[in-house]
Amino acid sequence: MFDNLTSRLSGVIKSLRGEARLTESNIQAAMREVRMALLEADVALPVIKDFIERVKQKAIGREVMESLSPGQALVGVVHQELMAIMGGEKADLNLNTVPPAVILMAGLQGAGKTTSSGKLAKWLIDNKKKKVMLVSCDIYRPAAIDQLELLSSQVGADFFPVKVGQQPAAICVAALDYARKHHHDIIIVDTAGRLGIDQAMMDEITELEVLLKPIETLFVVDAMQGQDAVNTAKAFADALPLTGVILTKLDGDARGGAALSVRHVTGKPIKFTGVAEKLTGLEPFYPDRMASRILG
Ligand code: GDP
Repeated sequence: MFDNLTSRLSGVIKSLRGEARLTESNIQAAMREVRMALLEADVALPVIKDFIERVKQKAIGREVMESLSPGQALVGVVHQELMAIMGGEKADLNLNTVPPAVILMAGLQGAGKTTSSGKLAKWLIDNKKKKVMLVSCDIYRPAAIDQLELLSSQVGADFFPVKVGQQPAAICVAALDYARKHHHDIIIVDTAGRLGIDQAMMDEITELEVLLKPIETLFVVDAMQGQDAVNTAKAFADALPLTGVILTKLDGDARGGAALSVRHVTGKPIKFTGVAEKLTGLEPFYPDRMASRILG
């Protein structure tokens, strides 16, 4: 993960450490290198522009040039700004509502929505001691419903049984009623994805969002899709009141562009990352830890 970005950034910073002092011109040269490194990492252009501008301003300002160890001060600025483009503070899952709290999962087919629903249920059961029920509205793919049922039993969550022919809206109404009667703290609703953005899918999930009034609407997106992931997230964020993002398959993403771009482009925080196929492979997202990891 971030292999190339990390080595390129550390190269730039090392080269500045060799300078007796930082000048406007060697900072400019360094920022050109950083720009190239971010382009190679598939970071979205507006994010790169904003990042470079902010680092440059701070570096050329007193903060770095007048520091006793300017190289070290520059590392501090880069760390701070990497954190800032990823949202700064950690964004917690909001469960602050009258139970059952509804978490609606949105995303394209193959992004990791069903797997993440299971992982999130496990995380809530193990870490927050919640009573969780999983619900599938993916009536178009019976295999997806079976997959969620299996995941439910593996993580110790209840599973809402869908009746043959039941439509997504009816499933949601019945699931909410069932959860109220059986005192579930949280229901996680997995929805149907498509291969690409599609109006029928958007209409369906918008209808479910209105019906369920979820406290969290999470967009699940595959980090390996790079800038495509970010563009898809933007389209969903424009159509649905998303509250956050789950960035999956970070374990397979060598470049890191989606992790660095998605918050800035969509305005929605990454709340969790998928870091392995296994059910324990879901982690809360910490912008400061990620920035440290990128800097190596
Ligand atoms: P859905 O169509 O969005 O519901 O996608 P699935 O949940 O079925 O996931 C698609 C594939 O991605 C499956 O093979 C998952 O095991 C895999 N997957 C999901 N999340 C991760 C992750 O964080 N890391 C890895 N390595 N694989 C993942």
